[in-house]
Amino acid sequence: MAIPSQRQLTVGSLLQRGHGINLFCACGHKTAVLPEQLAKLAHPETRLLDLRRRVRCSMCGLSGASGDIRMTTFAVPTIVGARDPLRPRTRH
Ligand SMILES: [Zn+2]
Repeated sequence: MAIPSQRQLTVGSLLQRGHGINLFCACGHKTAVLPEQLAKLAHPETRLLDLRRRVRCSMCGLSGASGDIRMTTFAVPTIVGARDPLRPRTRH
């Protein structure tokens, strides 16, 4: 069963807010997709529900279309890209 509020959400609206998605498979496998990965994965107008239908668990092979994969969204703090301009000089 889909959460009603996710029905209207699109990949683009998530990207605007800097949100990524978590995918939880019934087998226990969990994957996080960062916004920048999301942007490459799907068109901004893709609805999250359609995106979920396209995903497949890499562990057990279950398809998101079967409803066995749950999707939640999460807010990414400002570390997207993991660039750290203040990184001290750490030479190896
Ligand atoms: Zn699985």
